[in-house]
Amino acid sequence: MQNVNSTVVVLGTGGTIAGTSPPGADERNYRAAQLSVAALLEAVPGLPAGLVCEQVAQVDSKDMGHAVWLQLAQRVSVHLASSQVGGVVVTHGTDTLEETAFFLQRVLAPAKPVVFTAAMRPATAAEPDGPGNLRDAVALAADASAHGVLVVMGGVVFGPRDVRKAHPTRLDAFSSGSAGPLGQLRDGKVSWRREVPREVALGLDWLPANPSDWPRVDLVVSHAGVDGALVDALCGIGTRGIVAVGTGNGTLHEALEAALLRAQSKGVAVRRATRCRDGAMVPRSSDPFPDVGDLTPAKARIELMLELMRSTG
Ligand code: ASP
Repeated sequence: MQNVNSTVVVLGTGGTIAGTSPPGADERNYRAAQLSVAALLEAVPGLPAGLVCEQVAQVDSKDMGHAVWLQLAQRVSVHLASSQVGGVVVTHGTDTLEETAFFLQRVLAPAKPVVFTAAMRPATAAEPDGPGNLRDAVALAADASAHGVLVVMGGVVFGPRDVRKAHPTRLDAFSSGSAGPLGQLRDGKVSWRREVPREVALGLDWLPANPSDWPRVDLVVSHAGVDGALVDALCGIGTRGIVAVGTGNGTLHEALEAALLRAQSKGVAVRRATRCRDGAMVPRSSDPFPDVGDLTPAKARIELMLELMRSTG
């Protein structure tokens, strides 16, 4: 069902979708985050009238930071509060899209749709994928059956908890593993494959206004030959939390585990994640650190950061 009276707001944050390369240059040597979100919309014929756009940031999303997250969440929240707005689209780089989408879902869990989209090819490519993805995102953001943070790429709709960039170069680079996509878009119409979960928002106002006051949470990977030096160094610079990215079901090299136990005894919050690409972890009573369930390490880092902020806030 289309909610044709509602405005869709398109917020630009940069990424390859806004990337360009000089004429004749190899399209892999492009620079991300060059074109404005207004220019991106101009390149998509047949979009509905009355779209509103705003440039929130202009970054290659490999360089994404907490300050942009906070600003984006605030702008999304302001727009969603308007009765004129039916949904919001966020254009983003593919590299950290899953982190920003997860963060926004945790703090806003919006009743209206907030649809992330991106591109694997720059805007100046011979066959760019950005315009089609942007058209799909606008259609999904205007669809009355959509809610919450969603991601649309190549006509596939993913959820913020499950989605991840799973391939470095392919056009269909995104996956939600064994959870599967939420739905599909064809000719601007969405068919849902499963119910989109409704979640409770943590809210925004309680977050420290200065992201440099957010607790430091780091990722450390278990691998053959690892020792505890990184963990000890992180404790030395005041980390508040560590997500230990273990092998298999979150198993950790004994040297790393010993260092993590030392860190935990000093008050550092430690969680276990997995290097495995798919599937949820299964808790075992013998594990010294809680596991992160089905969250990827990068999302588990966000979850732990939010948890630490809640417990001190
Ligand atoms: N490095 C780029 C970014 O994440 C890649 C992309 O957009 O696909 O912004």
